[in-house]
Amino acid sequence: DIHPGRRAGEGIELGHAESLAAVVAASRLPDARDAPPLVAAPLVDGVALPGHVRDVVSPIDGAVVGRVTEADAAIVTAAMAAAAAGFAGWDATALQTRAAALLRAADLIEEDRGPLIALLQAEGGKTLDDALAELREAVDLCRYYALEARRTLSPEPLPGPTGESNVLRRRGRGVVACISPWNFPLAIFTGQVAAALVAGNAVVAKPAEQTPLVAAHAVRLLHAAGIPLTALHLLPGDGDVGALMVADARLAGVAFTGSTAVARSIAQDLAARDGPLVPLIAETGGINAMIADATALPEQLVDDVITSAFRSAGQRCSALRLLCVQEDVAEPVITMLVGAAKELAIGDPRSPATHVGPVIDADAQDRLLAWLDRAEEQGRVLWRADEDRPLPDRGTFVPPAVIALDRASDLREEVFGPVLHVVRWRADGFDDLLEDIARNGTRLTLGIHSRIGATAERAIARLGHGNVYVNRNMIGAVVGTQPFGGSGLSGTGPKAGGPDYVRRFAVEQTVTINT
Ligand code: GLU
Repeated sequence: DIHPGRRAGEGIELGHAESLAAVVAASRLPDARDAPPLVAAPLVDGVALPGHVRDVVSPIDGAVVGRVTEADAAIVTAAMAAAAAGFAGWDATALQTRAAALLRAADLIEEDRGPLIALLQAEGGKTLDDALAELREAVDLCRYYALEARRTLSPEPLPGPTGESNVLRRRGRGVVACISPWNFPLAIFTGQVAAALVAGNAVVAKPAEQTPLVAAHAVRLLHAAGIPLTALHLLPGDGDVGALMVADARLAGVAFTGSTAVARSIAQDLAARDGPLVPLIAETGGINAMIADATALPEQLVDDVITSAFRSAGQRCSALRLLCVQEDVAEPVITMLVGAAKELAIGDPRSPATHVGPVIDADAQDRLLAWLDRAEEQGRVLWRADEDRPLPDRGTFVPPAVIALDRASDLREEVFGPVLHVVRWRADGFDDLLEDIARNGTRLTLGIHSRIGATAERAIARLGHGNVYVNRNMIGAVVGTQPFGGSGLSGTGPKAGGPDYVRRFAVEQTVTINT
């Protein structure tokens, strides 16, 4: 039981308390809390491949959640060979069968929500809200990509002269590497893998080193749903494992979600290697701004800022980093914002009352605390949560904080945690503000709070961010409704959860027959 001493449902104050209580009661860690390489390769000399074993610890309290066996060069080679061998059979499997396996996987993920939620919390440090939303997203992605594959991958007859048939067919590329981040260890991991598989590829998947247990659980469910062992292989490990995958001449495509720096180095490695030219789908970060003018409704604005900046402890690519508020209303808005932020409950995310849990690990914590220290030295910290009350003494917690800046372009890096920066702008400086926001080169999410349609349109036209949210919060893109992803330093596209995603995993073949 991961909630010792607490009755199911205790502390829940939401309208749907009963069903939530049932979910909490059912969320127990699974028995299998290990993440070995799941590779359909023959045993070497009759023994399983070795690999490096280490504990997976929880960001909540440092407790050991399970064990991971990280892949080494021999295991990566074995996986690439096994995937290359498995590709032809899977690609030749009917599209309907591949799509049906994803629909079954969606059902299995839904049925297995108890252990998955418990793992998302223990390994990923997620609040109950976040874990539930992520589970929902993983299920949606499997179903959406299955349906989109049926719609967009079927052979397409094309016009031509009499006596000639022209058909555009789509098939898998070959072996695709899926390299995913720890902040959505289930949804992004499963989404990449599902899209690559349904298009007919064999997949080698490397989860983030912080969250291999959720990934291993997901792979086991995908296998149980009918994805052949030979078509989907799991390679736990760090960046070195990713680099080995990318260097392998059998690779035909890469889907990567993570930092811009790593995306760039993958692109360089792909360009430098021998063998076929390999496409990269990269989804990276953003220094995301929200622009609020004097017509914004203050209560709604503040509520949306709190959600966008602090939910998931700010550990979303979509999260708000920089609030740009019009000078005329800045004072009352910032006062109200700090007042609302003081209400955030920070602590064990397994308690339904908690709003902000830990950040993912000690490295992230150190980086964020150093950022706060620097801001403190410069006298820029308007508020930090540990002024009011101490943070939990175990676990990798970082106090939510609000930092003042002079200009939007002063923020040049993605501060991936519960830290919000605020700048003020003057009514006659709106165009300068837009130029200043554009300067960082990322184009992921943009928030706008204004009752003047023309103001919003001016910002949208100038900035070209991938996901724009007007008069609401700016996180939690919904599959099929708000396809997610940016351009510039924020990624290559196509958008995850959007109609063009699955097709990018396929190659096209035009077949012309003289009849
Ligand atoms: N799709 C998520 C959202 O809209 C963010 C994904 C990410 O952080 O990579 O909040």
